[in-house]
Parts: sequence; structure tokens; C-alpha cells
Amino acid sequence: MTPSDIEFDKQHIWHPYTSLISPLPCIGVVGAQGVKLTLDDGRQIIDGMSSWWSTIHGYNNPRLNQAAKDQIDKMSHVMFGGITHPSAVALCRRLVEMTAKPLNRVFLSDSGSVAVEVALKMAIQYWVAKGKPQKSRMLTIENGYHGDTFAAMSVCDPVNGMHELFNNVLTQQLFAKAPQVAFGEAWNEDDIKPLEALFEHHHQHAAAIILEPIVQGAGGMRMYHPNYLKAVRRLCDKYDVLLICDEIATGFGRTGKLFAYEHSDIVPDILCLGKALTGGYMSLAATITSQAIGEMVCKTDAGVFMHGPTFMGNPLACAVASESLAILQQGDWQQQVSNIEAQLKAQFAPFEQLDVVADVRVLGAIGVIELHNPVDMESITNAFVENGVWIRPFGKLVYIMPQYIMSERELKSLTSAIYNVVSQL
Ligand SMILES: *Cc1c(COP(=O)(O)O)cnc(C)c1O
Repeated sequence: MTPSDIEFDKQHIWHPYTSLISPLPCIGVVGAQGVKLTLDDGRQIIDGMSSWWSTIHGYNNPRLNQAAKDQIDKMSHVMFGGITHPSAVALCRRLVEMTAKPLNRVFLSDSGSVAVEVALKMAIQYWVAKGKPQKSRMLTIENGYHGDTFAAMSVCDPVNGMHELFNNVLTQQLFAKAPQVAFGEAWNEDDIKPLEALFEHHHQHAAAIILEPIVQGAGGMRMYHPNYLKAVRRLCDKYDVLLICDEIATGFGRTGKLFAYEHSDIVPDILCLGKALTGGYMSLAATITSQAIGEMVCKTDAGVFMHGPTFMGNPLACAVASESLAILQQGDWQQQVSNIEAQLKAQFAPFEQLDVVADVRVLGAIGVIELHNPVDMESITNAFVENGVWIRPFGKLVYIMPQYIMSERELKSLTSAIYNVVSQL
């Protein structure tokens, strides 16, 4: 990329969560291979973010490339209303196989936020059909993140989310304090008390509870005790509230289980998937429920579920996603993620001695260094790039979620670079 390309970008293009008044410069990336990004000056740097949890099998993966090429020569797109096609069937067959047994009805959509909107609409329509339209509000926990569209925003953390700006238009949902007992700590029954109280007081108006199982991602990178999620399932059964697990970040092996709800041995009523679904090749998401819930959703006067994106079930995205799941079904991810977890635990341990570090957390292929103070984004990102890695912290959190294919040496380079940078803060 020429300097004038970068300048054009700065003048005319909007990036995620950025100011147009004082935009931070972007780095130009012109290629990617395996776990590395190629910068426009020819440098190669190790990507610690998997492009926001998604590129689990690495960039330019030969099998995913082939799946895309094969599909593009057959049919890039066809509408999904009244039409089906082999890649959607192949993908949904795998999704039904891989998820817990009752989850056997798949609704495809374009992005994670939309998958969440779809889940919330399903839950609301379900109660309308059951003759309890007053059950229309959502329960959730603090520190959650569920996307940037309006209904999704309404269940994001009220403080670090976007509530303040949009308060006048967001549906007021019902929040409980986030779980405090961390994954790996001794369980304490008191942890569920705030949520229990919320259920007791509000279940008559609650359609569903939505939460990220075990790992809360963009709302704080917190990892909580599996017994908490077990207790959530029990409360849902006791008070007749649907359980929506948002596994858009945690799904497909990231936490060491194929789906994070497996840590708690529970089954959600509705499951949201996205991010890694296509191995990071393109945008695709899914909302999965049971036949029984799906049938109830369709018993309103409308007679149908009221949703249908233009690009629903896009064949290109489905073909790549199906191949990505085929790679997962071969099972190497289990050893890969468990190796990454062991290495991260060992190499993150010395961080605990640093004064700037408040907490270190590792689960599966997720490593989090929580600092005492928020980082300066521009200087820390530059320092990482100079140390040969791509890491994009937010607030006090420096975190990585490597591609499952990352080698021991590459991961060592990544953790050493983080140590170099963080110990200089
Ligand atoms: C990223 C994310 C979303 C939103 O997905 P988009 O594809 O960015 O719309 C929703 N929920 C969770 C848990 C996420 O991590």
C-alpha cells in the first residue's frame, strides 16, 4: 500500500470504534499465511488475535481455500426463501451433529449480532405463542457482550457497553451482578444469589436469560465457574425462562471444549454461533434451537418465525463453514488447544510478578493479562508490531486467542513479545 492509500483510509474510511477527529493510524496488511500477517513494508508479524477469535485454522488454509474455490465455480449465491442447496445442508448437518442432541433446528444469518437478534426474537415469539406475551424482557449478567445492534446492545454490560448514549431508545433489560467465582477456584453457592433474586422478582416478565457461557469476551475477558452456569440452567427450569447461550466467541473449541456449555454439562434452549464458524473466511452466524421450541415459535397468529436476511444461507459462506467444521471433526483441535493452554499457563506465570499486572487468566486457547491501568492504544500497538506481533488490547486488557495451528515456537515468540512490551510499561 502506498502512503497515499493509508492517507485516503485516514480521510475517508471508518474503522471499528474509532474517532474521525483523532483517528489512530492503521497498519496496512497485504497478505496472511498460517499465523502470520504480511505488512505492506514486507514484514511478517505473528497474529495473536485470530482476527477477533475467528481464524482458528490459520490464514490461507488450503482446505478452506479449496472449498471456497469449488463453491464459487458452482454458485456464489442464491436466495434461501423457498430454495435450499447442498452447502447449507452439509453445514447444518454438521452443526446438528456437533451440538447437543435437542439442538436440531438451525437458523442461518449474516453476523453474530444478527444471530443474537434472532435468538431474542425467537424467545419473545415463543412466549407470545404460549399466551404469555408479558414474558418479553431479557435477564442477563453484567460484563456481557452480545453485539452492536439495538437488541444486542440492550443486553451488553450497562457500564462498559453503549447504554449511556442510547439509553432513551434501548429496551431496559434486567441485569444481575456478574459471577465472581473464577474458573478453577473453589465454588461458592453465594455466587448465584444475585441472579436467583432477579429470577424470583422478574420471572413473570422474563422471556429468556442470555449470557456467554464460561468466558465473557469483549465485556471484560472474565472466566467463571461452571457451577454458575449449571445453576442458571436450574433457575431457568424452575422459573420457566429460556436459556440462550451466546457462544459466538467461545464456540468451536476455543475454551477446550467444543462448546463452552459442555464445561457445565448443560444444554441451552437456544445457541448463538458466529466468529469461528467459517474459520474466519467470511461473515456467517447461526442460531440453533430444538424442534419443540421452534414449533412453539411458529404457533403465533403470524404462523412463521418473522425473520429472513437477504443473504441467509449464502452458499460460499456455508461451503467454507462446512469445511471448517470438517477440520474440527477430525479432532486435532483438542490436542492443539490443550497444548496452547499448557504453554500459555507456563509462559504467562512470570507476568504475575510484574507490578503493572493485576491478574493473569488462561483457559483453553485464551490468555488474558489484566493490568492495573488502561493502556495507551497507539503506543502499545506500535510496540507490539515492533516486537513482531499483532495484539489489540482494550482498556486494561492485553489478551490473545491464537490460531489452533500455532506452533510452540510461534507461541513462544508471541508470549515473549508480550513480556517485552508489558514489562516496559
Ligand atoms: C463478537 C460477538 C458478538 C457479535 O458478533 P458480530 O459478528 O460482531 O456481530 C456477539 N456475541 C459475542 C459473545 C461476541 O463475541
